[in-house]
Amino acid sequence: MIPIAKPLLDEEEIAAVSNVLRSGIIAEGQRVADFEEAFANYIGVENAVAVNSGTAALHAALLAHGIGAGDEVITTSFSFIATANSILFTGAKPVFADIEHDTFNIDTDDIAGKITPKTKALMPVHLYGHPAEMRAIMEIAEDHNLTVIEDACQAHGAAYGNKKVGSFGTGAFSFYPTKNMTTSEGGMITTNDKEIADRARMIRSHGSRQRYLHEMIGYNFRMTDISAAIGLVQLGKLGEFTSMRQRNAGILSNGLRNIKGITVPVIRNGCNHVFHQYTIRTGGRDELVSFLNKNGIGTGIYYPVPIHKQPLYRELGYNDNLPVCEEAAGEALSLPVHPAVSKEDLNMIIETIKKGVEAID
Ligand SMILES: *Cc1c(COP(=O)(O)O)cnc(C)c1O
Repeated sequence: MIPIAKPLLDEEEIAAVSNVLRSGIIAEGQRVADFEEAFANYIGVENAVAVNSGTAALHAALLAHGIGAGDEVITTSFSFIATANSILFTGAKPVFADIEHDTFNIDTDDIAGKITPKTKALMPVHLYGHPAEMRAIMEIAEDHNLTVIEDACQAHGAAYGNKKVGSFGTGAFSFYPTKNMTTSEGGMITTNDKEIADRARMIRSHGSRQRYLHEMIGYNFRMTDISAAIGLVQLGKLGEFTSMRQRNAGILSNGLRNIKGITVPVIRNGCNHVFHQYTIRTGGRDELVSFLNKNGIGTGIYYPVPIHKQPLYRELGYNDNLPVCEEAAGEALSLPVHPAVSKEDLNMIIETIKKGVEAID
């Protein structure tokens, strides 16, 4: 079976972790500080704050911006649940805009109609590694005096114009094993605002700047040096990982572009798409999934149920009508694109999809 995701770890990560274990300093220490500095440099921001998950990064970023009860945050329903749940954690209300048909990202034309006097922030997601329409998003934010928190959990190194995502507003990254780089569990907040970074650091560690002096309510969102050691090695490999993902995506698109009923992913002008997922659209999705799985090809459906249709959100009274999002949930199909997928694998995937589409037709 060609898996849909696979963390790539070798002797280098093993040695880095062994060194941490031998040092005896296994919780947050110098390696976390080194990883933060390296990641901030990589993204092109002044500050990076490491935490123990992407969810914690989103949560802490919102709190650092003072978002809470009575506030609304406009985001997308076509994402992992953590995007919207991080807003709920703060007591604020997620408000969903629809998505673009081609990129699956938040539709900036749909944002204006969702802005109310309570709106405090926009939270675009750079879904699958394709940057959201940041120019329009930053313009809307400026016009309405809104904070922008970028869910960059799938978009390490993706760029819009000459800027990496996570450097427009406050960024939140995940280092879960299936992401473009991993620390096992882990996350990072990126920002050019020193005050936001300071607050995020306090929120990460029980509201304290100085040990046993607590200025505000906080959590234990700390990253361990074990994770940071893995992250430092992975960050060094990220460029190569990304090139492999992009090469693989190119091969898949060349092979799949002319198959009837299949729409291959777009790459907007001026965008660097880092292909966290390679996601096609197809009407006969569920039959094609079983055909591929039967033939040794792992697949992913991100996401079969939009957030506003999740039982939790139904329970909360959400009853949105988001037609583009709902259509995507029925048609999106992700294929293996990670760096461990070989050219032979890709050819096999393309041939199997051709057969599958004919069989279903
Ligand atoms: C993975 C992911 C998260 C959450 O990250 P964790 O590290 O799993 O907590 C949030 N948003 C998106 C879009 C993600 O893909």
